Amino acid sequence: MAIKVLDARVVAQIAAGEVVERPSSVVKELLENSIDAGSSQISIEIKGGGINLIRVTDNGIGIPDSEAEIAFARHATGKIKNLKDLENITSLGFRGEALPSIAAVAQVQMVTSSRGESSGTYLALEDGKVVHHEAQARAPGTTLTVQNLFRKVPARLKFLKSEAAEVGRIGDVVEHYALAYPEVRFSLTVEGKTSFRTSGGGKLSDAVLAVYGVETAQNMIEVNDFEEKSNASGLHIKVTGLIGSPKISRYNRNYISFFVNRRWVTNRMLGIAIEEAYHGLLMQGKHPVAVINLEIPPTQIDVNVHPAKTEIKFQDERAVFGVVQKAMRQTLVQSTPVPQVEEVRSLFKVPTAPYSKSVPSQVLNAPMSVPSDKTATPVTPLISLPVLRVLGQLARKYIVAEGQDGLYLIDQHAAHERIQFERIKRQRDSKQVEVQGLLEPVTFEVQPRQMSVLGDHIKEMGSFGFDIEPFGDRTYLVRAVPALLGEKDWSDTLKESLDTLSSNWDEGLTISMACHSAVRAGKILSDVEMRELLHQLEQTDLPNSCPHGRPTMIQLTMQQLEREFGRIQ
Ligand code: ADP
Ligand code: MG
Repeated sequence: MAIKVLDARVVAQIAAGEVVERPSSVVKELLENSIDAGSSQISIEIKGGGINLIRVTDNGIGIPDSEAEIAFARHATGKIKNLKDLENITSLGFRGEALPSIAAVAQVQMVTSSRGESSGTYLALEDGKVVHHEAQARAPGTTLTVQNLFRKVPARLKFLKSEAAEVGRIGDVVEHYALAYPEVRFSLTVEGKTSFRTSGGGKLSDAVLAVYGVETAQNMIEVNDFEEKSNASGLHIKVTGLIGSPKISRYNRNYISFFVNRRWVTNRMLGIAIEEAYHGLLMQGKHPVAVINLEIPPTQIDVNVHPAKTEIKFQDERAVFGVVQKAMRQTLVQSTPVPQVEEVRSLFKVPTAPYSKSVPSQVLNAPMSVPSDKTATPVTPLISLPVLRVLGQLARKYIVAEGQDGLYLIDQHAAHERIQFERIKRQRDSKQVEVQGLLEPVTFEVQPRQMSVLGDHIKEMGSFGFDIEPFGDRTYLVRAVPALLGEKDWSDTLKESLDTLSSNWDEGLTISMACHSAVRAGKILSDVEMRELLHQLEQTDLPNSCPHGRPTMIQLTMQQLEREFGRIQ
């Protein structure tokens, strides 16, 4: 075929393909425009899964009549002017592509009125061309109506899922913007019925309630306002949001939402940061609920990496990773454990003072530590693990034990993690790592990303007991592994630590190894095993918390028992 420049209509449709992939992408672009226009109320109406109709109505600044047609020209935007602005984007839109792209693949009508103008504007477009332009009254704001989407692009239509699936995607988009903009009142109407609405009252917790329901909303923890500043790099990150307590975990990652400068983004690294923060708190295969807002100077990010602007690049990805993870971890550690029943909360206490073998015994007479919870009784700082007599196992998860001062419940997995964590550190410090040779060398295949991590750390891996060497294309040969992981657990541990590259790689691998080698919740333990576990826990430096910061045990004192049973006042 001879080479020819494509005609304008084909060019427009190809370009539209990048921005307008499906009905939900139209909704996303229109919502972004309404938000950029400063609207406090946005309603979305859809019919036929968004194919027949999408209508977005807002009360924003509107478009002056003289600019209405220009808004539909390619690369026409009121949001940036020059290259410098491109590095400092504060609006959601900036590419000037959405309206012309939508008009290229659907029939579009717009009614808009800008404050201060005597009359509004009605505009109709077919095949991207304006076919009507007249005056029409309207309160300030804009209504965009998109009909018969993709009717002239049958190939696109074919790729759409069922109507219900498209409605689901649209709902997802609206819900995410509702989470990002709690001060905007959103409503979504599907086939004439209101399916979702928010109050617009400005509180994130209300938006979470609207999106996820009461049970989830009640179990969200506020991220302590977390800020990190570095004058040297100009980095200044603020993390806010709500994250789910570990007891409301989900089976997939769809409940993790990130907003960077209030833009909904997907970013693998951010996802890993949060999952890592929950590591050890959730069962395997479970994922947290989280709504995280990052504020970061626009010069530190690049949002112009994807036509639909859903991806984002950070100038200093590692620093962002570190801050997010720290903020999450701190919030979680401060708020766990979360006892299930109110009454139990007042009964059981987490021993608060860190155990320490070296503290002299007069500490016993030191002032009692005062827990922040006013109703709780203070707990005597413990100087070492008391002698515990195993009474039995509860729910295949907890060891029930009697101590000099009451009842102890010990989380078998967390306790063993602590033991293993310190054992690994000790062995590495003294260069006496127990290594287990594999009967035959095993090939270990890695992803390109994992490859660079492994390449960078292959020497350190040796100090943990891994004997690994490169073996051709993306493959490594493993000859020996840390003895405490054994044949069964080493490869999962290795994969996990290669995927969850954190700023503190050593510590990350140590935690991962401790977790994988520790006895699981759900395992029945014999009396002997339980006694041995407690004995080993006694030998550790910090027996009362696992390496993730979770408590290994909670205690019900004799005094509390007596009080609860009315023996003393
Ligand atoms: P972009 O959002 O990238 O600037 P669009 O094609 O989405 O490009 O929109 C083009 C321009 O039309 C915007 O820059 C804005 O000035 C105007 N516009 C679009 N939608 C609205 C709206 N709902 N309210 C006010 N102005 C709007
Ligand atoms: Mg836009």
